[in-house]
Amino acid sequence: MDVVVEPGIGWMELNEYLEPYGLFFPLDPGPGATIGGMCATRCSGSLAVRYGTMRENVINLKVVLANGEVVKTGSRARKSAAGYDLTRLIIGSEGTLGVITEVTLRLQKIPEYSVVAMCNFPTVKDAADVAIATMMSGIQVSRVELLDEVQVRAINVANGKNLPEVPTLMFEFIGTEAYSHEQTLIVQKIASEHNGSDFVFAEDPEAKKELWKIRKEALWACFAMEPNFEAMITDVCVPLSRLAELISRSKKELDSSSLVCTVIAHAGDGNFHTVVLFDPNDEKQRKEAERLNHFMVHAALDLEGTCTGEHGVGTGKMKYLEKELGMEALKTMKRIKAALDPNGIMNPGKLIPPHVCF
Ligand SMILES: Cc1cc2nc3c(=O)[nH]c(=O)nc-3n(C[C@H](O)[C@H](O)[C@H](O)COP(=O)(O)OP(=O)(O)OC[C@H]3O[C@@H](n4cnc5c(N)ncnc54)[C@H](O)[C@@H]3O)c2cc1C
Repeated sequence: MDVVVEPGIGWMELNEYLEPYGLFFPLDPGPGATIGGMCATRCSGSLAVRYGTMRENVINLKVVLANGEVVKTGSRARKSAAGYDLTRLIIGSEGTLGVITEVTLRLQKIPEYSVVAMCNFPTVKDAADVAIATMMSGIQVSRVELLDEVQVRAINVANGKNLPEVPTLMFEFIGTEAYSHEQTLIVQKIASEHNGSDFVFAEDPEAKKELWKIRKEALWACFAMEPNFEAMITDVCVPLSRLAELISRSKKELDSSSLVCTVIAHAGDGNFHTVVLFDPNDEKQRKEAERLNHFMVHAALDLEGTCTGEHGVGTGKMKYLEKELGMEALKTMKRIKAALDPNGIMNPGKLIPPHVCF
């Protein structure tokens, strides 16, 4: 239940290769993402609520360091207590510590059965409350995705659909047929206790694919509303118990903005994205998009969350790290960086803010 790959393979190609073996790799970020980039950003996706992020699904790496040495970070064993965890040091290092050249990935069995369900809510807070209550019920859902009414409108415009333009939750339940049904019924009850309506579910493979296609293409659907605009995509994450509060606070700010803003959340993980559409030729609009991003990052940090749940720091979010982690943590990162890459040749200028000294 593992596979050794080179970093340039895409997760979608890998899953095509694995399907005949009845196995799959359970991380599903952007459609074009490669395993190397996914390791480097410590990415996740809609399935992380069930299977974890890249951090939990990489067993071993081969990495070329700045001095040319080739390091193996682990063995093929599924767990190990041997020494510092170099695998997890490299996962999420955004190419600043070395170049990943080989990856051993943990695989999962393709579920025997699955049910995909959808439910509507009067407010995003109700939807977030159901996501939280579902996780608290102990059900191991494989996906819980939240879309707000603006995102559903974008999907209707892009695909000629007629979905009710209200906050919506999408679920996937997996296991045996009986267990998938049992989970569906439990969540239907939870939803009805939180003002949920129009609970529908699909078991037919084509119908399920069609429902998930809606979610997977959500970002592209936004451009149907403003075809010549750019999108600023925010990515914050908070403890699950604070998700409803974060979404409520953010939604107030987004709704009072002059820009079109949609909400998409990997709600089971407390990970919340907004797509803010702005005219790239209009400086005022760009500034407003940046203001909204800034607002949401600070709201997440105030709720004990993080400035990035899955997209990474790059250069854009370096300015938030001190507030999130503190200067001592940043100094420690800088010491590690200096030890492994003393000449600063690996993705220079990324991840560690320039003002950090030790
Ligand atoms: C429509 C859409 C949906 C998305 N949804 C999600 C989502 O649900 N979850 C999520 O986490 N992300 C999501 N993303 C973001 C993106 O898919 C992820 O960040 C992904 O991990 C990036 O992979 P990549 O191959 O494109 O990496 P790149 O963008 O090419 O690289 C990312 C970073 O990794 C470094 N890097 C790349 N390869 C290596 C290597 N071999 N060794 C060392 N460093 C390397 C690069 O230098 C760079 O700093 C989405 C993106 C899009 C466009």
